[in-house]
Amino acid sequence: MIADYMRSHILSLESYTSARDEFSGYAEVYLDANENWKDFSLSGKNRYPDPHASELRRKIEEVMGFRVENTVLGNGSDELIDMLIRIFAEPGKDCVLIERPTYGEYKVFAEINGVEVINVPLTDSLELDVDAIKSSIDEKSPKIVFICSPNNPTGRSYDIDVIREIADYNPSLTVIDEAYADFDPSFVSAYTLLKDNERVAVLRTFSKYWALAASRIGILIASPVVIKAVNKIKAPYNVSLSAQRDGLEALGNADGRKAVLEEILGEKKRLEGEFGRFSFVEKIYRSDANFLLIKVSDADALYLYLMKKGIIVRNRSREPLLSNTLRITIGSKEENDKLLEAFDEREKSTVS
Ligand code: PMP
Repeated sequence: MIADYMRSHILSLESYTSARDEFSGYAEVYLDANENWKDFSLSGKNRYPDPHASELRRKIEEVMGFRVENTVLGNGSDELIDMLIRIFAEPGKDCVLIERPTYGEYKVFAEINGVEVINVPLTDSLELDVDAIKSSIDEKSPKIVFICSPNNPTGRSYDIDVIREIADYNPSLTVIDEAYADFDPSFVSAYTLLKDNERVAVLRTFSKYWALAASRIGILIASPVVIKAVNKIKAPYNVSLSAQRDGLEALGNADGRKAVLEEILGEKKRLEGEFGRFSFVEKIYRSDANFLLIKVSDADALYLYLMKKGIIVRNRSREPLLSNTLRITIGSKEENDKLLEAFDEREKSTVS
Protein backbone atom coordinates (compact mmCIF):
# COMPACT_ATOMS: atom_id res chain seq x y z
CA MET A 1 0.00 0.00 0.00
CA ILE A 2 1.24 3.46 -0.89
CA ALA A 3 0.64 4.73 2.67
CA ASP A 4 3.41 2.34 3.80
CA TYR A 5 5.90 4.48 1.86
CA MET A 6 4.95 7.75 3.59
CA ARG A 7 6.87 9.12 6.55
CA SER A 8 5.19 7.69 9.62
CA HIS A 9 4.84 10.99 11.48
CA ILE A 10 2.91 12.44 8.53
CA LEU A 11 0.42 9.59 8.76
CA SER A 12 -0.14 10.26 12.45
CA LEU A 13 0.02 14.06 12.16
CA GLU A 14 -2.92 16.00 13.45
CA SER A 15 -3.21 18.84 10.95
CA TYR A 16 -4.31 22.41 11.50
CA THR A 17 -8.00 23.03 10.92
CA SER A 18 -8.72 26.49 9.59
CA ALA A 19 -11.85 28.51 10.28
CA ARG A 20 -13.00 27.76 6.73
CA ASP A 21 -12.49 24.04 7.39
CA GLU A 22 -14.64 24.03 10.47
CA PHE A 23 -17.45 25.91 8.79
CA SER A 24 -17.82 25.90 5.01
CA GLY A 25 -21.50 26.65 4.39
CA TYR A 26 -23.15 30.06 3.98
CA ALA A 27 -23.71 32.32 7.00
CA GLU A 28 -25.04 35.82 7.46
CA VAL A 29 -22.30 36.91 9.85
CA TYR A 30 -18.70 35.66 9.82
CA LEU A 31 -16.88 36.34 13.08
CA ASP A 32 -14.73 33.22 13.04
CA ALA A 33 -11.46 34.02 11.22
CA ASN A 34 -10.26 37.36 12.60
CA GLU A 35 -10.53 38.96 9.17
CA ASN A 36 -11.19 42.66 8.66
CA TRP A 37 -14.93 43.15 8.23
CA LYS A 38 -14.38 45.94 5.68
CA ASP A 39 -14.12 44.78 2.05
CA PHE A 40 -12.02 47.51 0.44
CA SER A 41 -11.64 45.35 -2.68
CA LEU A 42 -15.44 45.18 -3.15
CA SER A 43 -14.80 41.60 -4.31
CA GLY A 44 -14.52 39.56 -1.15
CA LYS A 45 -10.76 39.81 -0.70
CA ASN A 46 -11.06 40.66 2.98
CA ARG A 47 -12.08 37.01 3.54
CA TYR A 48 -9.87 33.91 3.45
CA PRO A 49 -10.39 31.80 0.34
CA ASP A 50 -11.79 28.26 0.20
CA PRO A 51 -8.86 26.11 1.46
CA HIS A 52 -9.94 23.26 -0.82
CA ALA A 53 -10.68 25.37 -3.92
CA SER A 54 -13.79 23.22 -4.31
CA GLU A 55 -15.46 25.20 -7.07
CA LEU A 56 -12.29 25.25 -9.16
CA ARG A 57 -11.71 21.53 -8.60
CA ARG A 58 -15.28 20.79 -9.71
CA LYS A 59 -14.65 22.84 -12.86
CA ILE A 60 -11.35 20.97 -13.40
CA GLU A 61 -13.32 17.70 -13.29
CA GLU A 62 -15.85 19.07 -15.78
CA VAL A 63 -13.28 20.39 -18.27
CA MET A 64 -10.27 18.08 -17.81
CA GLY A 65 -11.95 14.95 -16.45
CA PHE A 66 -9.85 14.62 -13.27
CA ARG A 67 -12.24 13.48 -10.53
CA VAL A 68 -12.64 15.84 -7.57
CA GLU A 69 -11.69 13.13 -5.05
CA ASN A 70 -8.39 12.67 -6.92
CA THR A 71 -7.25 16.31 -6.92
CA VAL A 72 -5.57 18.85 -4.69
CA LEU A 73 -4.23 22.20 -5.86
CA GLY A 74 -0.87 23.77 -5.13
CA ASN A 75 0.74 27.19 -5.38
CA GLY A 76 2.04 26.11 -8.77
CA SER A 77 3.03 22.50 -9.37
CA ASP A 78 6.39 23.39 -7.81
CA GLU A 79 4.74 23.51 -4.39
CA LEU A 80 3.22 20.07 -5.01
CA ILE A 81 6.63 18.60 -5.94
CA ASP A 82 8.05 19.93 -2.66
CA MET A 83 5.11 18.62 -0.64
CA LEU A 84 5.32 15.13 -2.16
CA ILE A 85 9.01 14.92 -1.29
CA ARG A 86 8.27 16.04 2.28
CA ILE A 87 5.48 13.45 2.63
CA PHE A 88 7.48 10.47 1.33
CA ALA A 89 11.19 11.01 1.85
CA GLU A 90 12.92 11.10 5.25
CA PRO A 91 15.73 13.72 5.32
CA GLY A 92 19.20 12.21 5.57
CA LYS A 93 17.85 8.71 4.92
CA ASP A 94 15.69 8.35 1.82
CA CYS A 95 16.27 9.10 -1.85
CA VAL A 96 14.24 9.98 -4.94
CA LEU A 97 14.99 9.01 -8.54
CA ILE A 98 15.07 11.36 -11.53
CA GLU A 99 16.22 10.99 -15.11
CA ARG A 100 18.75 13.46 -16.49
CA PRO A 101 18.34 15.79 -18.23
CA THR A 102 14.99 16.89 -16.85
CA TYR A 103 13.23 19.72 -15.02
CA GLY A 104 15.63 21.05 -12.38
CA GLU A 105 13.26 21.51 -9.44
CA TYR A 106 12.91 17.81 -8.51
CA LYS A 107 16.60 17.79 -7.64
CA VAL A 108 16.60 21.18 -5.92
CA PHE A 109 13.54 20.45 -3.76
CA ALA A 110 14.98 17.05 -2.81
CA GLU A 111 18.30 18.64 -1.83
CA ILE A 112 16.59 21.41 0.16
CA ASN A 113 14.81 18.66 2.06
CA GLY A 114 18.04 16.74 2.71
CA VAL A 115 16.96 13.92 0.40
CA GLU A 116 19.47 12.18 -1.87
CA VAL A 117 18.87 12.26 -5.64
CA ILE A 118 19.56 9.22 -7.81
CA ASN A 119 20.27 10.33 -11.38
CA VAL A 120 19.52 7.87 -14.17
CA PRO A 121 20.64 9.26 -17.54
CA LEU A 122 18.25 9.17 -20.48
CA THR A 123 19.40 7.05 -23.42
CA ASP A 124 21.37 8.74 -26.22
CA SER A 125 18.09 9.16 -28.08
CA LEU A 126 16.71 10.97 -24.98
CA GLU A 127 14.26 8.18 -24.10
CA LEU A 128 13.69 6.62 -20.67
CA ASP A 129 16.25 3.90 -19.93
CA VAL A 130 13.78 1.43 -18.47
CA ASP A 131 16.31 -1.25 -17.50
CA ALA A 132 18.57 1.27 -15.75
CA ILE A 133 15.58 2.78 -13.91
CA LYS A 134 14.42 -0.67 -12.80
CA SER A 135 17.85 -1.64 -11.49
CA SER A 136 18.14 1.68 -9.62
CA ILE A 137 14.73 1.02 -8.07
CA ASP A 138 15.97 -2.44 -6.97
CA GLU A 139 19.25 -1.12 -5.67
CA LYS A 140 18.27 2.18 -4.02
CA SER A 141 14.55 1.84 -3.18
CA PRO A 142 13.70 5.49 -3.98
CA LYS A 143 10.59 6.84 -2.26
CA ILE A 144 9.57 8.69 -5.43
CA VAL A 145 10.38 8.13 -9.10
CA PHE A 146 9.87 11.35 -11.07
CA ILE A 147 9.09 11.17 -14.78
CA CYS A 148 8.58 14.38 -16.74
CA SER A 149 6.50 13.82 -19.90
CA PRO A 150 6.70 15.75 -22.17
CA ASN A 151 10.16 16.19 -20.75
CA ASN A 152 11.65 19.61 -20.09
CA PRO A 153 14.10 20.53 -21.66
CA THR A 154 14.08 17.86 -24.39
CA GLY A 155 10.40 18.34 -25.32
CA ARG A 156 9.76 14.63 -25.70
CA SER A 157 6.65 12.74 -24.53
CA TYR A 158 7.35 9.20 -23.42
CA ASP A 159 5.27 6.22 -24.51
CA ILE A 160 2.49 5.55 -21.99
CA ASP A 161 3.30 1.81 -22.06
CA VAL A 162 6.87 2.57 -20.96
CA ILE A 163 5.57 4.80 -18.16
CA ARG A 164 3.12 2.05 -17.13
CA GLU A 165 5.93 -0.50 -17.04
CA ILE A 166 7.98 1.69 -14.68
CA ALA A 167 5.00 2.64 -12.48
CA ASP A 168 3.92 -1.00 -12.19
CA TYR A 169 7.45 -2.07 -11.32
CA ASN A 170 8.06 0.67 -8.77
CA PRO A 171 6.64 -0.26 -5.36
CA SER A 172 6.71 3.39 -4.19
CA LEU A 173 5.21 6.56 -5.71
CA THR A 174 5.73 7.35 -9.41
CA VAL A 175 5.07 11.00 -10.20
CA ILE A 176 4.43 11.87 -13.84
CA ASP A 177 4.81 15.60 -14.41
CA GLU A 178 2.61 16.48 -17.38
CA ALA A 179 3.12 20.27 -17.32
CA TYR A 180 3.35 20.38 -21.14
CA ALA A 181 0.82 17.64 -21.99
CA ASP A 182 -1.73 20.06 -23.42
CA PHE A 183 0.63 20.90 -26.29
CA ASP A 184 0.79 17.28 -27.51
CA PRO A 185 -2.37 16.47 -29.50
CA SER A 186 -1.78 12.70 -29.26
CA PHE A 187 -0.87 12.71 -25.55
CA VAL A 188 -2.18 9.88 -23.35
CA SER A 189 -2.21 10.98 -19.71
CA ALA A 190 -0.80 8.74 -16.98
CA TYR A 191 -4.05 9.62 -15.17
CA THR A 192 -5.44 6.58 -17.01
CA LEU A 193 -3.05 4.40 -14.97
CA LEU A 194 -4.39 5.58 -11.64
CA LYS A 195 -7.46 3.36 -11.67
CA ASP A 196 -5.27 0.22 -11.54
CA ASN A 197 -2.32 1.64 -9.63
CA GLU A 198 -2.73 3.80 -6.51
CA ARG A 199 1.01 4.56 -6.63
CA VAL A 200 0.64 6.81 -9.67
CA ALA A 201 0.49 10.59 -9.21
CA VAL A 202 0.16 13.12 -12.04
CA LEU A 203 1.07 16.81 -12.02
CA ARG A 204 -0.56 19.41 -14.22
CA THR A 205 -0.25 23.18 -14.20
CA PHE A 206 -2.17 26.29 -15.24
CA SER A 207 1.18 27.97 -16.03
CA LYS A 208 1.62 26.80 -19.64
CA TYR A 209 -1.37 26.01 -21.88
CA TRP A 210 -3.80 27.85 -19.59
CA ALA A 211 -1.61 30.96 -19.73
CA LEU A 212 -1.73 31.65 -15.98
CA ALA A 213 1.90 31.37 -14.86
CA ALA A 214 1.48 34.41 -12.60
CA SER A 215 -1.56 32.99 -10.80
CA ARG A 216 0.37 29.97 -9.44
CA ILE A 217 -2.01 27.02 -9.76
CA GLY A 218 -0.79 23.43 -9.98
CA ILE A 219 -2.90 20.28 -9.88
CA LEU A 220 -1.96 16.99 -8.27
CA ILE A 221 -4.05 14.05 -9.44
CA ALA A 222 -3.52 11.01 -7.22
CA SER A 223 -5.22 8.33 -5.16
CA PRO A 224 -7.32 9.62 -2.22
CA VAL A 225 -4.74 8.47 0.34
CA VAL A 226 -2.05 10.66 -1.29
CA ILE A 227 -4.49 13.55 -1.67
CA LYS A 228 -5.33 13.24 2.03
CA ALA A 229 -1.66 13.42 3.00
CA VAL A 230 -1.11 16.57 0.89
CA ASN A 231 -4.17 18.17 2.47
CA LYS A 232 -2.70 17.36 5.87
CA ILE A 233 0.57 19.19 5.28
CA LYS A 234 -0.40 22.01 2.94
CA ALA A 235 -0.78 25.56 4.21
CA PRO A 236 -4.56 26.03 4.43
CA TYR A 237 -4.81 28.95 2.02
CA ASN A 238 -2.08 28.03 -0.47
CA VAL A 239 -4.13 29.00 -3.55
CA SER A 240 -5.36 32.58 -3.32
CA LEU A 241 -8.87 33.80 -4.09
CA SER A 242 -7.56 35.65 -7.17
CA ALA A 243 -5.87 32.48 -8.40
CA GLN A 244 -9.02 30.40 -7.89
CA ARG A 245 -11.02 32.98 -9.82
CA ASP A 246 -8.40 33.12 -12.58
CA GLY A 247 -8.53 29.34 -12.92
CA LEU A 248 -12.32 29.33 -13.16
CA GLU A 249 -12.23 32.10 -15.74
CA ALA A 250 -9.65 30.23 -17.84
CA LEU A 251 -11.56 26.95 -17.78
CA GLY A 252 -14.69 28.85 -18.78
CA ASN A 253 -12.80 30.16 -21.82
CA ALA A 254 -11.35 26.88 -23.08
CA ASP A 255 -12.09 27.77 -26.74
CA GLY A 256 -9.74 30.76 -26.58
CA ARG A 257 -6.90 28.57 -25.36
CA LYS A 258 -7.60 26.01 -28.09
CA ALA A 259 -7.27 28.69 -30.77
CA VAL A 260 -3.91 29.82 -29.37
CA LEU A 261 -2.78 26.17 -29.19
CA GLU A 262 -3.42 25.81 -32.93
CA GLU A 263 -1.29 28.93 -33.51
CA ILE A 264 1.52 27.64 -31.30
CA LEU A 265 1.54 24.26 -33.09
CA GLY A 266 1.58 26.01 -36.49
CA GLU A 267 4.44 28.28 -35.42
CA LYS A 268 6.37 25.32 -34.02
CA LYS A 269 6.15 23.62 -37.40
CA ARG A 270 7.25 26.81 -39.15
CA LEU A 271 10.24 27.28 -36.83
CA GLU A 272 11.26 23.61 -37.23
CA GLY A 273 11.32 24.17 -40.98
CA GLU A 274 13.07 27.54 -40.84
CA PHE A 275 15.75 26.46 -38.33
CA GLY A 276 16.90 23.87 -40.88
CA ARG A 277 18.15 26.70 -43.13
CA PHE A 278 20.86 27.89 -40.79
CA SER A 279 24.33 26.42 -41.01
CA PHE A 280 24.92 26.89 -37.26
CA VAL A 281 21.86 24.76 -36.35
CA GLU A 282 23.08 21.18 -36.22
CA LYS A 283 20.01 19.41 -34.88
CA ILE A 284 16.38 20.13 -34.06
CA TYR A 285 15.11 17.70 -31.44
CA ARG A 286 11.62 16.23 -31.74
CA SER A 287 9.33 18.18 -29.43
CA ASP A 288 5.82 17.46 -28.15
CA ALA A 289 5.80 20.65 -26.05
CA ASN A 290 5.59 24.42 -26.68
CA PHE A 291 9.34 24.79 -27.08
CA LEU A 292 12.08 23.50 -29.34
CA LEU A 293 15.49 22.28 -28.27
CA ILE A 294 18.19 22.86 -30.86
CA LYS A 295 21.83 21.88 -31.05
CA VAL A 296 24.03 24.63 -32.46
CA SER A 297 27.71 25.03 -33.25
CA ASP A 298 28.37 27.41 -30.32
CA ALA A 299 25.47 27.75 -27.88
CA ASP A 300 27.19 30.19 -25.50
CA ALA A 301 28.03 32.58 -28.33
CA LEU A 302 24.57 32.35 -29.90
CA TYR A 303 22.91 32.84 -26.51
CA LEU A 304 24.90 36.05 -25.92
CA TYR A 305 24.27 37.25 -29.46
CA LEU A 306 20.50 36.80 -29.06
CA MET A 307 20.57 38.43 -25.63
CA LYS A 308 22.23 41.52 -27.10
CA LYS A 309 19.39 41.62 -29.61
CA GLY A 310 16.89 41.57 -26.72
CA ILE A 311 15.88 37.95 -27.30
CA ILE A 312 16.18 35.66 -24.30
CA VAL A 313 16.29 31.89 -24.75
CA ARG A 314 17.48 29.18 -22.37
CA ASN A 315 20.99 27.80 -22.67
CA ARG A 316 20.79 24.12 -21.68
CA SER A 317 24.37 23.27 -22.66
CA ARG A 318 25.48 22.38 -19.13
CA GLU A 319 22.96 19.52 -18.92
CA PRO A 320 24.17 15.96 -19.50
CA LEU A 321 23.74 14.82 -23.15
CA LEU A 322 22.88 18.38 -24.18
CA SER A 323 26.15 20.16 -24.97
CA ASN A 324 25.62 23.21 -27.21
CA THR A 325 21.86 23.28 -26.95
CA LEU A 326 19.37 26.13 -26.63
CA ARG A 327 15.77 25.73 -25.55
CA ILE A 328 13.47 28.13 -27.36
CA THR A 329 9.86 28.75 -26.36
CA ILE A 330 7.41 29.12 -29.25
CA GLY A 331 6.29 32.74 -29.04
CA SER A 332 3.79 34.78 -31.05
CA LYS A 333 4.29 35.02 -34.82
CA GLU A 334 5.86 38.47 -34.37
CA GLU A 335 8.24 37.25 -31.67
CA ASN A 336 9.25 34.25 -33.76
CA ASP A 337 9.81 36.52 -36.77
CA LYS A 338 12.22 38.60 -34.67
CA LEU A 339 14.09 35.46 -33.67
CA LEU A 340 14.35 34.32 -37.30
CA GLU A 341 15.53 37.79 -38.35
CA ALA A 342 18.29 37.60 -35.74
CA PHE A 343 19.21 34.08 -36.96
CA ASP A 344 19.34 35.41 -40.55
CA GLU A 345 21.71 38.20 -39.54
CA ARG A 346 23.86 35.75 -37.62
CA GLU A 347 24.01 33.46 -40.65
CA LYS A 348 25.11 36.32 -42.89
CA SER A 349 27.83 37.41 -40.48
CA THR A 350 29.17 33.87 -39.96
CA VAL A 351 29.07 32.89 -43.64
CA SER A 352 30.63 36.13 -44.97
N1 PMP B 1 7.09 21.00 -14.19
C1 PMP B 1 7.77 21.31 -15.30
C2 PMP B 1 8.19 20.21 -16.20
C3 PMP B 1 8.06 22.64 -15.60
O1 PMP B 1 8.75 22.92 -16.71
C4 PMP B 1 7.64 23.66 -14.72
C5 PMP B 1 7.94 25.11 -14.94
N2 PMP B 1 8.75 25.49 -15.91
C6 PMP B 1 6.96 23.28 -13.58
C7 PMP B 1 6.69 21.96 -13.34
C8 PMP B 1 6.51 24.28 -12.56
O2 PMP B 1 5.31 24.83 -12.93
P1 PMP B 1 4.44 25.75 -11.98
O3 PMP B 1 4.44 27.09 -12.62
O4 PMP B 1 3.08 25.10 -12.00
O5 PMP B 1 5.06 25.75 -10.63
